[in-house]
Amino acid sequence: ARKQKSRKAIGFYQPSMHKSMKENLLSEMNLQKGLDLKQFQLFYQPQVCCKTGEIEGFEALIRWQHPERGLIPPINFINLAESTGLIKLIGEWVIQEAIAQLKKWHAEGKEHLSLSINLSPVHFLSANLPAYLLQCTQSAGIAPQSLILEITENVAIEDRDAARNRMAELRAMGFPISIDDFGTGYSSFAYLQNLPVQQIKIDRQFIRHISKNENSAAIVQTIVQLGKTLNLQTVAEGVETKKEWDLLKQFGCDSIQGFYFSKPLPVNEIDQLLQNAGGSYNENQST
Ligand code: C2E
Ligand code: MG
Ligand code: MG
Ligand code: MG
Repeated sequence: ARKQKSRKAIGFYQPSMHKSMKENLLSEMNLQKGLDLKQFQLFYQPQVCCKTGEIEGFEALIRWQHPERGLIPPINFINLAESTGLIKLIGEWVIQEAIAQLKKWHAEGKEHLSLSINLSPVHFLSANLPAYLLQCTQSAGIAPQSLILEITENVAIEDRDAARNRMAELRAMGFPISIDDFGTGYSSFAYLQNLPVQQIKIDRQFIRHISKNENSAAIVQTIVQLGKTLNLQTVAEGVETKKEWDLLKQFGCDSIQGFYFSKPLPVNEIDQLLQNAGGSYNENQST
């Protein structure tokens, strides 16, 4: 009787399931359509050097400019893109678009600027990523050193060997690797010692409390120290106040990214900002 019951469960059906499957299918089609109709857009958020106050680069963050629903943030479609396999196509679009923009800035005499892009785990581990990156940078005449590849730390843990090999491969080609959302994964610091990474981005969940919470401050200070010891660049994410910036400078953090300087902006506003500020921020800057 039991067996029968479970067999029956396989064919178990509810109208609500049908509805959600249909919705997924529809939005997958929309996602593909969005890609075909070039509705995706990269916004750019400045990264500022703690020592000089100068903009040293940007992080590219994807948005979906939907004709009916307006600007859709990545949290609302990246998961779907990952589960449908479209993430590779979207990721390749991001790579192309980011490199084209970097080429423009470099051609305007801002050769010092770097650009960071976010790569999904599936795309990061996919077979042709290194060849694709190399082909895109070479045909644009962009040095791989100026395109920083961000991946979250769980990639490095869940598929340890594959991830390490892939990182080494990309490193050998000259692409810097950055560990995004550092501190939020279920890793210990130990795993960092054998990874060919250049940068760690300290997650906002620690940064947002450093001026109020001594434990958060201690954690961030420890991560910055670790970065120094392992010769890694440290970037603080989500800096919103002057107090936080001052503390991070005091801790010896290398670079800062956050609303305190600028939220992510479309490229025309970034160009304006580069012109106005001359690419640097002074101490009295407010959001
Ligand atoms: P992330 O890579 O950790 O990006 C940082 C997120 O924090 C961005 O959200 C950014 O807008 C936000 N942020 C920056 N400064 C501040 C601040 O001072 N305060 C607060 N409250 N937030 C701040 P966004 O753009 O919504 O992106 C969310 C996530 O979506 C990203 O997290 C990244 O994991 C993913 N993502 C974005 N673009 C792409 C992409 O092109 N490809 C892939 N695979 N994932 C992407
Ligand atoms: Mg990122
Ligand atoms: Mg992050
Ligand atoms: Mg994050």
